[in-house]
Amino acid sequence: MAGDCIFCKIAAGDIPGDIIFEDELAVAFRDINPQAPTHVLVIPRAHVGNASTLTEADDALIAHLMRIAGQIARDEGIEGSGYRIVLNVGSHGGESVPHLHIHILGGRQLSWPPG
Ligand code: AMP
Repeated sequence: MAGDCIFCKIAAGDIPGDIIFEDELAVAFRDINPQAPTHVLVIPRAHVGNASTLTEADDALIAHLMRIAGQIARDEGIEGSGYRIVLNVGSHGGESVPHLHIHILGGRQLSWPPG
């Protein structure tokens, strides 16, 4: 647990989250401020910063998180229509929670380029 990291607290069960999947390495829960009909966050259970702070030691973890993201998209019924996986990094990227999280967004037509 990193300090008062809100995602560490959700993973630990210290604050509530709408958790839809968890295993020993990862937790997935619905975004509290959804930007699409399906908006799920997949996080590592252990505190990891953002995509810029990853090291070789995180390779297997990231592969695991990505596989779970695909599984959740299937389970949520958005695989056929398509969806977007997003990692926001830093200020210009729009990152607001400094604990690695994969956004899964789907259930509507998403535009490109992003705002
Ligand atoms: P980002 O802006 O990429 O760092 O994404 C952080 C996301 O976390 C935002 O989409 C927030 O709506 C979401 N969020 C913040 N607090 C919570 C919470 N307690 N439960 C669920 N989602 C949250």
